Amino acid sequence: LTFIHTLPKAELHAHLNGSIPISDLQQMAHEYTRTSDKAASDLVQAGIAKLQNGVVLDEIYDFFNLFPAIYALTSNPISLRRATKVVLEQFLDGMYPQCTYLELRSTPRETEEMSRLEYVRTVLDEVERYPKARAGLIVSLDRRMSVEVVRECVEIAIQLKSEGRRVVGVDLCGDPQAGDMGIFADYFFQAKQAGLGVTLHIAETPVNSAEETLELLSYAPNRLGHATFLNDEAKSIVRQNKTCIEICLSSNLLCKTVTTLDDHHIRYYLQHDHPIAVCTDDTLPFRTSLVGEYALLLAARPLGMELSEAEVQRIAEMGMAARFG
Ligand code: IMP
Repeated sequence: LTFIHTLPKAELHAHLNGSIPISDLQQMAHEYTRTSDKAASDLVQAGIAKLQNGVVLDEIYDFFNLFPAIYALTSNPISLRRATKVVLEQFLDGMYPQCTYLELRSTPRETEEMSRLEYVRTVLDEVERYPKARAGLIVSLDRRMSVEVVRECVEIAIQLKSEGRRVVGVDLCGDPQAGDMGIFADYFFQAKQAGLGVTLHIAETPVNSAEETLELLSYAPNRLGHATFLNDEAKSIVRQNKTCIEICLSSNLLCKTVTTLDDHHIRYYLQHDHPIAVCTDDTLPFRTSLVGEYALLLAARPLGMELSEAEVQRIAEMGMAARFG
């Protein structure tokens, strides 16, 4: 374990609102209940109780229902700042930090109390308390967004980057069944032109069609999230472009998109010496940490036998090499 703790590691796929420690969320829920009406409080309390007791998901779509309760607690600049601070501390502080470098991602949300621009600025204020070599921000675009909101979010990302703020990339995330991918093409292109990295959740479930996957690959992403259900054509493009795959073992197992570690696509990529980055996705519902994911990697025996320290080190180096920041 000491070896894993001290290994330089990058966390490149961590969603802010899916990574808030449960103790902080409980405190935030307690304060929220004092100032909100009963219906809203009940919704939040039910959501937090579920997270506290340990989430059991029948399928990935159940997972997205966890977020409304969390979102109720991070919907103004003060609570969002607090959530961001504890998430950064969770990954970057302490005697043995989870990672050397964190690329945190979050979806700009407009609420009654803040605009999307304020949302991103608030998160960045906390990210930038750490040196550049330790933390950066990826602006997530949700598949359910309208084209107007996608445009606004990408403009925010580009504007803030041009002001020297620590936005390092854009992401496509959200319910894998939702949305029209055609509306995103121009905006990912603009983001790339502006020097931002592009990472896309891709082929996360069997319902994601081969056509959609090929369309997303045509945006020339720098990294891919999950990439669980790529067909041979998609795999060949990904391998040719050496596109780094962000691997989230616990997330895939708990969302039941992968049945066992033996079936996990990490094996394919490691057997083909393809770049991967070991990541957590959402530490809160999946009750994991980056060190925990490396421990699972050892248990997965992805090359047929226990990985040597040199092999684990090489995997960690692949993650560090795929940083946008
Ligand atoms: P946020 O972007 O900080 O609000 O983090 C939570 C959001 O991340 C959720 O509402 C989802 O849209 C997205 N997300 C978290 N985990 C996953 C995943 O495994 N697949 C797709 N989207 C995800």
